[in-house]
Amino acid sequence: MQAVQFAGHGGTEVVEYGEVPDPEVGRGDVLVDVKAGALNHLDVWTRRGMPQLDLATPHVPGSDAAGVVVETGADVTRFDEGDRVAVSAGVFCGDCEFCRDGDYPLCTSFHVLGEHVPGVHSEYAAVPEDNLVPVPENVDWETAAAAPLVFQTAWRMLHTRADIEAGEKVLVLGASGGVGHAAVQIAAHAGAEVYATASSPEKLRYAEEIGAEHAIDYTETDFADEVRAHTGKRGVDVVVDHVGEATWSDSLRSLAKGGRLVTCGATSGGRPETHVQRLFWNQLSVLGSTMATPGGRRRALAGVGRHLRRAGSGRAPDERDRAGPRATGEPGGLWEGSRNPRQRTLMVTHDPREDHDDAGGMSERAQWFVVAALVVSGVLAPLYLYVVGPGSFGLGYRDTYLAVPMIPAVLLGAIGVWTAVRGQ
Ligand SMILES: [Zn+2]
Repeated sequence: MQAVQFAGHGGTEVVEYGEVPDPEVGRGDVLVDVKAGALNHLDVWTRRGMPQLDLATPHVPGSDAAGVVVETGADVTRFDEGDRVAVSAGVFCGDCEFCRDGDYPLCTSFHVLGEHVPGVHSEYAAVPEDNLVPVPENVDWETAAAAPLVFQTAWRMLHTRADIEAGEKVLVLGASGGVGHAAVQIAAHAGAEVYATASSPEKLRYAEEIGAEHAIDYTETDFADEVRAHTGKRGVDVVVDHVGEATWSDSLRSLAKGGRLVTCGATSGGRPETHVQRLFWNQLSVLGSTMATPGGRRRALAGVGRHLRRAGSGRAPDERDRAGPRATGEPGGLWEGSRNPRQRTLMVTHDPREDHDDAGGMSERAQWFVVAALVVSGVLAPLYLYVVGPGSFGLGYRDTYLAVPMIPAVLLGAIGVWTAVRGQ
């Protein structure tokens, strides 16, 4: 099968799309025919390489994907062939002291698909049953692939770790990014007053569209000053920070007394300065968070599904930034790490034209040609006969006219068959 892969760490030039061995389906695994995958900042970190990250190469990256179940291992009980599923990348042992308490993200052997072990940016992926969630019919592939990692991460940060309450003030940094845009929506849904930072008028508008009451352009103004001014010098109750070094001081400075800073990442660097006096005098809490429990994941994704049902569409308005180039074409460009205002670049690993119709074994395009052929022969032929008249029957050379309306029909039918044979 084909997969995104890299043989060594580095820039986007290390990323290739090519042949890898087909995945082996273990007893507890489900083989997924991947329809879409999503790029997270985590993927960029994995590509660049991190201390303590010792990967077998070539490494197939990717923590987010969605697709159709095509095979199940002998011990799989919850999924069948044909089920629509999305990948949830956190893997836990189920047996350590934390797992026995149900707090799986604290598992002593916790690891992430695509980061520590082979990922899912491939045509097919063998994924443990516990790492799959069902995808409702009303959710399109791109949204299903883009939602799990960032929405469950933001859910645990806000609900499990920071324990937000309705009426609290929550500041979300980088509100147009993956975790940021999920955090804005989850906090707003929980009844918090959401402050959001972003770096352009378009991103600020977007933050407001998805629930932020106060959008702050951090390139124009000091966001901590702005937050303090907005709140009568009080500050906010919770800051969601995934930026790290560049924002850490100002995040702490944005907090009210007794406030909580919750972090899940350090995209700008991991060794910030901390003003310890501010920490103890204002009695602040610094909370770390990563991924979520299956329960948190379920609640976060249920929220995405409800939102889609209310919106009456298969695509969340906040997940619309669909892929430019497909992985097959320009994986390097795709893997640049999106700076798009509407968060992450998504990718479709399969050329949609390869999605054969299960029922007839004929692609949609081939079916259209055949239908067109039937319409042409069914409508044009009688029409032609009506115009030429019944005299054309059985009268020598005029018989050949009968073939005229059939020519386009035969051509279209032939194209249909050719298309089906070529599997397009
Ligand atoms: Zn464990």
